Amino acid sequence: RAAAQLASFDGRGALADGTEVPLLANVGTGDDARAAAEAGAEGVGLLRTEFCFLGRDSEPTVAEQTQAYAEIFAAFEGKKVVVRTLDAGADKPLPFLTDTTEPNPALGVRGYRTDWTTPGVLQRQLEAIAAAARETGAHVWVMAPMIATAEEAARFHELASAEGLQVTGVMVETPAAAITAEQILERVDFVSLGTNDLTQYTMAADRMLGALAELNSPWQPAVLRMIERTAAGARAASDASGEHKNVGVCGEAAADPALAVVLVGLGVDTLSMSARSLAAVAAVLARVDTAQAERLAALAVSATSAREAKETVRAQLPVLH
Ligand code: PEP
Ligand code: MG
Repeated sequence: RAAAQLASFDGRGALADGTEVPLLANVGTGDDARAAAEAGAEGVGLLRTEFCFLGRDSEPTVAEQTQAYAEIFAAFEGKKVVVRTLDAGADKPLPFLTDTTEPNPALGVRGYRTDWTTPGVLQRQLEAIAAAARETGAHVWVMAPMIATAEEAARFHELASAEGLQVTGVMVETPAAAITAEQILERVDFVSLGTNDLTQYTMAADRMLGALAELNSPWQPAVLRMIERTAAGARAASDASGEHKNVGVCGEAAADPALAVVLVGLGVDTLSMSARSLAAVAAVLARVDTAQAERLAALAVSATSAREAKETVRAQLPVLH
């Protein structure tokens, strides 16, 4: 079944009215990247660079990193590749960056914050990303995980620009970043919503705990409102700067076809997911227009629970049944 779905994606995401919704892939390795390109992904919306570091107890050299990134970029010549800098900590500890004695790792020194305790690693990673970008023909966008303030976004932009990386952004994974998206986007070019963490932090519910699965759903109206707020901030920043500030989603939410419709209705521009989900999402998007997506998004946002939001939207999407 997965193979049939892959085969039926023609490499272009769009709504029934022609509005384009680029569909990108989440990847971690060269093999992932080649499979995603084969499946028709329009680019990479999330390169999880931790995968290039897993199993290492010391920092890879700039040359090693450059080679690992270039292998991935090579699969997407002429296409967009969004590279996330190291997201170590919490569920992804790395021996050379993570203090495993923290009492609350999810609220600890993780993602971009490791630059405060282990300076230099981020700068060397950016240097390697820039070198790999120069070697290949991919359009490389670079973003930082676990951002909470516009000041952090500005500092990341400064570090990345100093290495010659021209398109910079941050992930929106904290309520703080969602609420200040406009200010963040005065400093960087794009944001990407990490709905896995944004859900965990909005709902105060550990994403690793099965007992909290219902709270930990990206269908939670509170999470959808965070996304709506982020998109509104991006529109305001776009209007003020005269440049379009892209809002992507790269969490698991983007792979749920009914939720993908809602995300587009909330103002999300691009969706990134594992390659095997591309065809199913594309098929549903192609059956709704912008006005329907907006109407379904409004229904989901005003529901009283994740279950109600999901059931209401699914009932109104006959294409799913
Ligand atoms: C997310 O938080 O939604 C995300 C894409 O990052 P990760 O799942 O790697 O934390
Ligand atoms: Mg995350």
